[in-house]
Amino acid sequence: LAKTRGRARFEIFEPPMRQAAENRFRIESDMRQAIERGEFKPFFQPIVRLDGQTHAGFEALVRWEHAQRGFIGPGEFIPVAEENGLINEIGLQVMEGTMRQVAAWRRAGQWQEGWYVSVNVSGVQLRDAGLVERFTDLRSQLGLLVGDIRIEVTESSVIANQDVAFGLLPRLKEQGFLLCMDDFGTGYSSLSYLSELPFDVLKIDRSFITDLCRRQELGALVNTVISLADSMGMIVVAEGVEEPAQCEALHKLHCGYGQGYMFSRPMNAANATAWLEAAARPKQSAAA
Ligand code: C2E
Ligand code: MG
Ligand code: MG
Ligand code: MG
Repeated sequence: LAKTRGRARFEIFEPPMRQAAENRFRIESDMRQAIERGEFKPFFQPIVRLDGQTHAGFEALVRWEHAQRGFIGPGEFIPVAEENGLINEIGLQVMEGTMRQVAAWRRAGQWQEGWYVSVNVSGVQLRDAGLVERFTDLRSQLGLLVGDIRIEVTESSVIANQDVAFGLLPRLKEQGFLLCMDDFGTGYSSLSYLSELPFDVLKIDRSFITDLCRRQELGALVNTVISLADSMGMIVVAEGVEEPAQCEALHKLHCGYGQGYMFSRPMNAANATAWLEAAARPKQSAAA
């Protein structure tokens, strides 16, 4: 029976499988075309000093500017790009786009020393032995200063790529890229990684911030993370700050920096430029 039904079974199961493969193929060739056309663009979300709420830097967040579909967020294409390896080229395009933008801000006199943009790097990119040279070459070609660009890697991508991460991250650090551990608290980690790898910045994941003011135990947890970071000489950035109450609570816990919709959503280059111009204007004092 199985033999005679073999063909029928094949017909039943083949079409969806073929369709999945075709979809994947289409997305992949779409992506290749998008890379050639330069459709992967960084958006910029401010990172703000919680003491006084002044501008400290931006995080670059990739958007795919798709001719038919408009802007597509990273959740929809990064996992696919990590699987098919195109993340290497996309990541390079985001890094170059970010550096070119910083160079433009510098030329226009819209940049203040000490400001930075922090760029996400996927664990897959850590497997590229030429990454450090590519980043440093671009940085010097574009006339940026060491310190203008920071690098974010997630806790889980470090764990998944331990062998290469331990080689590559210290080399990036040697070249002056400050290292940020992204989404801290969501991986299975990691206190050992914190002590063994030269991270400068610890970004507390949004999941700890969302209910910070409603769940006391989260306050205790965040407090502990901040003390730990302090004792290791690391800077702390809280992700996903949406409300003034969270901002106040974090400031009371001596968290240095915050990022989230409360300050701004990620912006295109034009709006980010307007943000920097506003940041450079002296704040109007209440007395004036
Ligand atoms: P991430 O690096 O943790 O970035 C923060 C994410 O949280 C961003 O989502 C940002 O838009 C969002 N966010 C910021 N503030 C708030 C807030 O107050 N509330 C809420 N609900 N969300 C907030 P986005 O842009 O969709 O990026 C998602 C993830 O995709 C990033 O998480 C990062 O892991 C990855 N990603 C983004 N750009 C790149 C890139 O250029 N390369 C790589 N490899 N990954 C990237
Ligand atoms: Mg990030
Ligand atoms: Mg993050
Ligand atoms: Mg996050």
